Amino acid sequence: MSTSETEPSDSGAAPAQPSSQLSLLLELQEADLALDRLAYRRRELPERVAVSELGARLVELTARVAEAQDQRDKLASQQLTLDQRSDAVGGRIATIEQRLRSGRAGSYRDEQAMGEEVTSLAHLRREIEDQELEVMEALEPLDQELAALTASCSAAAEELGLAREQLGMATAAIDEEAALVRATRGRLAARVAPELATPYERLRAKLGGIGAAHLVGGACSGCHLQLPAGELHRLRHATPDSVVYCDQCGRILVMTSDQAGR
Ligand SMILES: [Zn+2]
Repeated sequence: MSTSETEPSDSGAAPAQPSSQLSLLLELQEADLALDRLAYRRRELPERVAVSELGARLVELTARVAEAQDQRDKLASQQLTLDQRSDAVGGRIATIEQRLRSGRAGSYRDEQAMGEEVTSLAHLRREIEDQELEVMEALEPLDQELAALTASCSAAAEELGLAREQLGMATAAIDEEAALVRATRGRLAARVAPELATPYERLRAKLGGIGAAHLVGGACSGCHLQLPAGELHRLRHATPDSVVYCDQCGRILVMTSDQAGR
């Protein structure tokens, strides 16, 4: 924290001298900006982006696994139906053949009709078997795809777990740093007079996080605009305890002791 503060900043709640009040305010501003930067870093952590991307990838992979599994279930159900039909036809053929062999077929015409039925059923069974083969051929690449997708899914879940762990560590480190800055800020805030702290907080909320600025080469560090010569003269000869505001942006202007009285 850059400052011209000469008193120790952690000397408890002892009220500071008017001249050092403005320096304290600049320290408070520095602490607030440090907290803002930490909050920004916490929001924009690359680990957070990684978690978000991996999470989206896992959702996509899970959906693709479900889709492939659904297709596979449909094919397996078709396979089961075909199996049952094939068994039924096979059973019917066996029954007829048994009757033919046992000589209980009856007339020659009946025997001929049964023979024709066996031929026709055998033809039907071949058709069913061909369909079964088609289903099995469709199942094979689907099973491979499903295995690959499931493996990708587990890998993505593992990566996501690691990324979450890293995000946790990164946020914990920032939180630890922020806690220290917040403690410093608390000690500073306790020493800044309310008549200075109140406008500072209001300006900070209104003007993008900066409520107090200092002079840099005759310019306001808040708005970076050069102050008119008359205004500079007025500032340099103001009493140490007077609070002056930048004419251009309205922020509290703090002069360091070497800038004052010249
Ligand atoms: Zn300004």
